[in-house]
Amino acid sequence: MNEKIALARSDFPVLARKVNDAPLVYLDSAASAQKPQCVIDAQADFEQHHYAAVHRGVHFLSAEATARVEAVRQQVASFIHAQSANEIVFTSGTTEGINLVANSWGNQNISAGDNIVITEMEHHANIVPWQMLCERTGASLRFIPLNPDGTLQIEALDTLIDSRTRLLAIAQVSNVLGTIAPLDLLIAKAKQAGITVLVDGAQGAVHGSVDVQTMGCDFYVFSGHKLYGPSGTGVLYGRADLLESMPPWSGGGAMIESVSLTEGTYYARPPWRFEAGTPNITGIIGLGAAIDYVTRIGMAAIHDWEAELIHYAMDALCSVSGLRIYGPSNREGVIAFNLGQHHAYDVGSFLDSYGIAVRTGHHCAMPLMSFYQVPAMCRASFALYNTREEVDKLVASLHRIQQLLG
Ligand SMILES: *Cc1c(COP(=O)(O)O)cnc(C)c1O
Repeated sequence: MNEKIALARSDFPVLARKVNDAPLVYLDSAASAQKPQCVIDAQADFEQHHYAAVHRGVHFLSAEATARVEAVRQQVASFIHAQSANEIVFTSGTTEGINLVANSWGNQNISAGDNIVITEMEHHANIVPWQMLCERTGASLRFIPLNPDGTLQIEALDTLIDSRTRLLAIAQVSNVLGTIAPLDLLIAKAKQAGITVLVDGAQGAVHGSVDVQTMGCDFYVFSGHKLYGPSGTGVLYGRADLLESMPPWSGGGAMIESVSLTEGTYYARPPWRFEAGTPNITGIIGLGAAIDYVTRIGMAAIHDWEAELIHYAMDALCSVSGLRIYGPSNREGVIAFNLGQHHAYDVGSFLDSYGIAVRTGHHCAMPLMSFYQVPAMCRASFALYNTREEVDKLVASLHRIQQLLG
């Protein structure tokens, strides 16, 4: 363990809590990560000393708040290696980012007879907006199937795409299986066929460094709350020329150049065109602090530690009889499992009674539950602050539950 990672755990005040008389073992960061003190402090400081509306006033505080929000936009651009801050749209999260693209770019570019390709491992946020778009337009949705081991049948892409395929929308990392999509290959094929690509980076941006230019995607979305930042914040990256060509999807203040009741409205340029209304100002400041924080530790160090933990956990979990782990061995961030025939809720409740927080349910990926023919799974997910000792506790608790439930 690198020294910065070793010291980082104490930055997260909630991890000192006890739950059900046991020290909290937080293994649910893929649902939402805990926040370091510096993020909490940055938000409190902003609210106490700097808060004002952005993009409106000439007064000092408003100008200062505007400058700080725009500085975070620049910071996000550097974090994901976008060419310019103008390519960064603030959203309320991954879900809103995808809905924005589906409604703005989608309504403009998708028509009856077109098709959109996704995969069988997508989060509902990267399924439902496309289904709704298909319903509106008469387009159809196709999906890249999974192999039983939870890897993608990438060869299928060749037969799935045709001259009417307009979009490939794909998760960088599955939030259930941890499967890492072979984006190099998939994006190269899509680009060769002139297909626009959206990457759902909700689980990708948190486990390693992202370079949207090298990746070659057109859109990239992620959430602040999975990156140790505030909930209600998120980012949509869109290539500058694409954003320029897209109509607004939501109307209101801050997204206009001028409004006349008789002569209509002129829209602001991107990214502001897509940010109607007052944004989550304090949240954006918190997101900036979170990006500062992970950058100080280093995304490479975070990646290496989490990879080591996952490897350690996969090995240790082998000792639990009747435990079925879903997904490939080469994975990122999460381990979904079931214990014998026991329902995931029962196993999750037992783990909770030992202070261990895991997610149980369908993980917003019901097609994936159907694929494995189970109603639910337990999922342990790992963040920079988790330790080997916590993995040991998980494994020991599963042994105990196995003995209790048989
Ligand atoms: C969490 C998640 C989403 C949705 O993110 P929100 O923050 O809830 O909008 C989408 N895709 C994946 C892969 C996720 O893990």
